[in-house]
Amino acid sequence: MAPPSSSVFPLELLERYGVPPHRCAMPNLGPVENRPFTDAHYQEVLSSFRRRPDERLAVYVHVPFCHVRCLYCACDTTVTHSVEKVDQYLDALEREMDMVTRLVGRGRKLDQLHVGGGTPNHLNEPQLARLMEILEYHFELSSNTCASIECNPRRASVGQLELLYGLGFRRISLGVQDLNADVQRAIGRVQSLNMVRDVYLTAREVGFENVNLDLVYGLPFQTQRSFLETLEQILELAPDRAACFSYAHDPSTRPHQHAINVNQLPSAAEKLGLFQNAVEAFTKAGYRWVGLDLFVRETDELFDAQREGRLYRNAIGYTTMPSTQVLAFGPSGIGEVGDALMQNEPDLRVWQKRVNSGHLPVAWGRQLSEIDRRRRDAMLYLMCNLQLPASSATDLEQEYSRLCRNAEHGLVEVSDAGIRVTSKGRYLLRGLCAEQDELVDWGSSQWRFRVPI
Ligand code: SF4
Repeated sequence: MAPPSSSVFPLELLERYGVPPHRCAMPNLGPVENRPFTDAHYQEVLSSFRRRPDERLAVYVHVPFCHVRCLYCACDTTVTHSVEKVDQYLDALEREMDMVTRLVGRGRKLDQLHVGGGTPNHLNEPQLARLMEILEYHFELSSNTCASIECNPRRASVGQLELLYGLGFRRISLGVQDLNADVQRAIGRVQSLNMVRDVYLTAREVGFENVNLDLVYGLPFQTQRSFLETLEQILELAPDRAACFSYAHDPSTRPHQHAINVNQLPSAAEKLGLFQNAVEAFTKAGYRWVGLDLFVRETDELFDAQREGRLYRNAIGYTTMPSTQVLAFGPSGIGEVGDALMQNEPDLRVWQKRVNSGHLPVAWGRQLSEIDRRRRDAMLYLMCNLQLPASSATDLEQEYSRLCRNAEHGLVEVSDAGIRVTSKGRYLLRGLCAEQDELVDWGSSQWRFRVPI
């Protein structure tokens, strides 16, 4: 798909939609019963899930530790060099899984496992092995479980990658962000191309079936030229998938971002241009753009699914498996069970205290009504499959007509069959969906979370 020139996006549209945040609300939950979502409520949700033993299940584990704090970081993480602190986290994680599996049943089959962070490979080798032991005690993992892990190349070693493979992980995502030295210094994350290449090739040699690379655009000192160089270097490595996330500068919630000089950040139009460069470079190299910001090979199941209108997205990321329930463990973990969404306490100490005192550490949650669920499903369908059938207008009249109004800017096409996102509208799609949040009564809830990729 040829990217449109940034000049085709009037400033007004860029301001309205064009700076998609890396962190954004799960679209679009709509007005819901505004009662607190307590651990008692979560217990009810989990107990009712026990009565549905055949439903697909995914587990997300959040590892909230890093060796150093990158200045652009938007994740919930703690810098520590203490082995004991990580051991205590694993103790609490085990307790949390005990509590949850007592309610949903121990030994349930896992279709998907994702370990993210933070830096999962900040754990030492015995701790990584223990993490898997804890998971295997509580769930049934097999060669059919799609097991993936996020890794920081600066913390990876041959021995560690072999261990992860031996523990059953077959997909690995390496955080690259940008390979330009000025950009790396400005974001406090210096890692040479040689080092990234070594880790990447080692992961391939070890046998990982999917080796994916993550990039971030909108960083300080990034220029169209420098980012193109990074893209060329990434394409030489030929990852199976590459994610290209948008940097969200929000020092009010991430105070360490104050160290980033806003004058060194690209403007909204420049930022869009960076992403357009990524789309063009990956497309020329034979990759296909999937969802909001993921690039996959043409043979990838996610591309087939998008083409056939059956791509889904859950709290872990894009998937071809509909209706997967997600149990989340660890601080800030986001879960989806039945018609409820919930997030664990993001603060490590609070999460640990809650778990160690015998409480499920849920911080916020939403029990979706039927109309909320339809609204969420419609927005996720639009984000994944770039279309919305006209039948959606029956239940979601307000959202549907609001989306239709974007036809005047060429962002969508409307026909009797429904709404189709245009190639131009695709660049602003996250903004189009996020705009629906204005219709939502969030009450006092701080229910905002990162849509994972
Ligand atoms: S490694 Fe990732 S999670 Fe850790 S500080 Fe850097 S960006 Fe944040």
